[in-house]
This record gives sequence, C-alpha cells and structure tokens, in this order.
Amino acid sequence: MPRYLILLLFPLLALACTPKPNTFNKVVGLDADEPFEYERFRPKNVQRPTEYTFARQRNLNPNDYLPDTSNARYLPLRYLHVNFHIMNSSDTLYPFYGQKAVDEVKEVLGYTNDMLRKTPALWLTPEGVDVPALPRQLHFNIVDKTGTDEAAIYEHYDDELYYYLHNGKHRNRADRRVVEKYALNQDSVLNIFIMGPPRDSIESKTFKLPGTEGIFLGDAIKVTGWLENNRRPWELRGIVGHEIGHALGLGHAWGRDGCDDTPIHKNNAWSQRGKNYGPGKTSNNLMDYSKDQQALTPCQIGRMHARMNDITSRQRKWLLPRWCKYANTESIRVTKDLNWEGARDFNSDIYVRRGYTLRINNRVHLPEQAAIYVDPGATLILGPKAVIHNSCGGTWGGIRVGVSESGYQGEVVTDPLATLLNVVE
Ligand SMILES: [Zn+2]
Repeated sequence: MPRYLILLLFPLLALACTPKPNTFNKVVGLDADEPFEYERFRPKNVQRPTEYTFARQRNLNPNDYLPDTSNARYLPLRYLHVNFHIMNSSDTLYPFYGQKAVDEVKEVLGYTNDMLRKTPALWLTPEGVDVPALPRQLHFNIVDKTGTDEAAIYEHYDDELYYYLHNGKHRNRADRRVVEKYALNQDSVLNIFIMGPPRDSIESKTFKLPGTEGIFLGDAIKVTGWLENNRRPWELRGIVGHEIGHALGLGHAWGRDGCDDTPIHKNNAWSQRGKNYGPGKTSNNLMDYSKDQQALTPCQIGRMHARMNDITSRQRKWLLPRWCKYANTESIRVTKDLNWEGARDFNSDIYVRRGYTLRINNRVHLPEQAAIYVDPGATLILGPKAVIHNSCGGTWGGIRVGVSESGYQGEVVTDPLATLLNVVE
C-alpha cells in the first residue's frame, strides 16, 4: 500500500519547485585547523516511507559505474561466488577427478583472477579515441560446500547428462537439464559446469576436438574444451572469464554490444599470424576469441558493475555481501567533488572532506553503524533519485554534520524526493 502512495506522490512533487542545490563554498573564513565536532543531522525535507520496493532500473549507464583510479573505494571491489561441477561418464571417460581435479580447477580460477587484476591496454579501439585500461574491481571466489570448509568443486557421474557438444547436428549447448539436476544454491552462487564431448564423438575419426567454448544459460555456465584437451590451466582463464563476462551482462565485443568503446570488428584473431596479429591489428578483448582475450574497456567494466549494483538483479545475489559487515578501517574519504549517479554498496562510513561536494543520486547502502559525515566546509547533496538504506535487514547511522567552534558547519542539501530508509533512531 505505501508503495502506491509513493508512486502517487511522485508526480505531484515533481511539479513542485525543487530548490537549486546550494553549493556556495563556505570554506572562505574557515580555519583549516579549527576543531569541530560531529552532530546528528536529520534532514526534514526528504521521503521516509516505512515500506519501500525498489523498481528494476532500466537503461543503466555504464559511465555511472566506472572505477575511479584516484580512489579504488569509490567503486568497491566485488567478490563473485562460483562453484564448479565436473561432469563425467560412470566409467570416467575423462581422467579428471579427485584431488588432482580440485587442484586444477582452483589453479584455473587463480589464473582467471590474475588476469582480472591486470589492466592490459586495448589492442583495438575506435579511431582517434583514447580508451583507458581501468582496474576491474572484480574477483571470483569458489564458495565452500555447505557446512564444510571444502571448496565447492563437485564431481558428477551421469551417462545421460555428462556431455556437451557446442556445434554440429547433435549440439546440446542450450540443454539445461544438467543445470536443473545438479546446480546448487543458484540464488547465491554462479554454477559452472565443466563438460566434454560424448564418447562416440571422441572416438570418431572425423570429430574435431572443440576449442574452448561455453554458454551462459541465464543462471549457470557450461564450458567445454577443458576435459578433452590437454590445455594448461592458464589457457582456460579466457573461457572462464569470458563466460562470466556474459553472466555479468556483456555481449561479444566484435558486434553491437552497447559499448561505444568496442568498435565493430572482425572476430578473427585466431586466424591471423605474424605482422597481422597484435595491437592495432587484432582484438585482445575478453569478449572476443583469441589467445590474448583479456582486455576490457571502461564501458564493459561499468556495465558489469551496473548489473552487480542493481538491487533487483540476479547478478547482485551472486556476490559476497561484504557490504553487510561494518568495517571502520575502510572509510570512504571524499577528497574530490563526486556525483554518484550510480548505485553503490559500501561497508563503512563516508567522510565528505572540507572543500568538497558529494552528490548522491541513486541507491546507496550503508551497514549497521555506518554514517555519512559532512565536515565543516563540505557539502552533501541528495538528489531526487537518492535512496540511502541498509540492504542487509538492519539500520544505518544517518547523517552527521561537523560543527566548528565558530559556527561553520557541513552543509546538506536535499531534494524533496530523496529517500532515507532504516536510519537508526
Ligand atoms: Zn561468448
């Protein structure tokens, strides 16, 4: 019921005059060393509904989710939960099981994370456009099997469902039965199935072993080219990263993928050699196919983070909810003017420092105890789309303004449509 009330109120309030944010800088006259204390500040002119339903956001803008190279904490690192399922026939067509298999899966994911940590330059960019290689702020974690401290790497022996043919007359890449039967905790973990071709294909003289291939099926990934070939673990990082890229909302870089910084090009790196291969010639984008598929553009990174920050998305459910636990050692210090048009999940306090303005105009989560501190001479602006809340079922600490002995204080400017939920009383 309150949800509808809010919906009714929105158009009415939109007609009302919205005050222009006052960003007049009061730093002049404020002694930098003057002591101040923080006081609770409860803005009056905001929405405080007792119930609130987040609407699915449309047309998320990747630019609102770009990592900031001056301060990594402005866009928190995300830890994505995965598990693995190794599919085999009951007579172990693939000699990939036991400790050796567990070790190798961990090794492949380790190489995939190494790849994510790097920021290689883009080999193909739109003409005349400088495309920076930004940090990815993304890490993959293998979860533990429920109730144990053992990595969730499962072996399944199933003569009907073990195989995967990506191409050809008998292809079954879109077959979801293996997912339906074996996937676990899909609400919180991205399930990855490692599968090889069926026995009759392997034994056929005309069958060509697949390259690394895979498919994202909406809630799980199937990959092939791993069990049946003697690829080294680092050679598999590309396919694992590529498929998780699809799971996080990325399309293929060679086509129209919604990113202007990935030019349309031929996905032909595998067929190019020598002087026809390399920077400016072929693509090294993770979302193309090549032995060097590892680069990501700002738009691609922003797109993944947009999905992961969307509270209505499946992708956010796969994340380690690190933001629920308050860490007073990881405070966000706003030391430049910032305008957060994108959503954020933080695990700490936010301090807006003297001389700077923070504008929030989307969903921001803060955990229990965390507050937003606005120093004297600093400004916090809450735009019409600002919703500050605790998404973990608790409260958050509210807003504090710094007040100096001579009366200078932090400034808070709120749009009447800005919404504050679960503030501690
Ligand atoms: Zn793909």
